[in-house]
Formats: sequence, C-alpha cells, structure tokens
Amino acid sequence: MRTGIGYDIHRLVSGRPLVLGGVEIPYEKGLQGHSDADVLVHAVCDALLGAAGLGDIGRHFPDTDPAWKDVSSLILLAETWRMASMNFGAVVNVDATIFAQRPRLLPYVDAMARNLADCLVIEAGRINIKATTTEGLGMIGQSEAMAAMCVVLLE
Ligand code: MG
Repeated sequence: MRTGIGYDIHRLVSGRPLVLGGVEIPYEKGLQGHSDADVLVHAVCDALLGAAGLGDIGRHFPDTDPAWKDVSSLILLAETWRMASMNFGAVVNVDATIFAQRPRLLPYVDAMARNLADCLVIEAGRINIKATTTEGLGMIGQSEAMAAMCVVLLE
C-alpha cells in the first residue's frame, strides 16, 4: 500500500468555463490554465503520481506541450492511472477537498466522483469529494482562485 498527496490552485478569470472533476458548472468565471485547468483533477493526478512514485503532473503533462492545450483533464487522469497501474493493482480510495468561495458545489460532487471513478476504473463509492469555502478570507475567499487537495491510497 502506498499513499500520495496532491495540491493545486488556479486563478479564476472571466471568459473561461468552470470545469471541476470534469463537470462544467454554471458560473460567471472559470479557471485559467493550459488545459481546462480542472484544479480538482490536477490534485488527484498529483496524489496518484505521488503514491506511485512517478513525480508530478508538470513532468508528465508540461504546460509547454501543445498536446495538452485546452484538453479535458480527465484525459490526463486516465493516462496517469494507466502509468500507475503498471505497478499497482487498484486505487483503494480517493479523498479530496475543493476550496472555493462560490458557487455552491454540493449539487455536482456526485457527478465529479463518477467521472473520476471512470478514469480510475473503480466504483464511485471509493471517491469522496468535499467542498469548503475559506470564509471570505484570502484570494480564494475573494473569488480570485480555487484550490484543491487530495490524498490517494494505492494497493
Ligand atoms: Mg493545475
């Protein structure tokens, strides 16, 4: 068994769709980045790569590579699991927290879990996604950014 941790943060800007866990969420801003900037999926990828001892997301999917421009981060996650699964049998569980002041994310977390589960080839019950605000504090509280943290256990 091996565990890994992942963290990511992206800036919120106008004129971009908000995609979290592969779910497009109606909101006035979206996350800025080279791919779809799915901060949750990036944190999960890093946790998975950490557990598998495979470095980090920037090493495998550099933001200078046109192949990953505007790509769905679910594709990155599926590819990350393909690499990790060469040495590990299964993901035991994923526990993640999204930090966002707005919008309310609870209505979307089940759909996010199903998307992640599909990429990791496990049942959605092994994935737990939480969302919290930062009580209006700091850049996340001022809706200038969203962040996510994640831990993964591999067997
Ligand atoms: Mg990222």
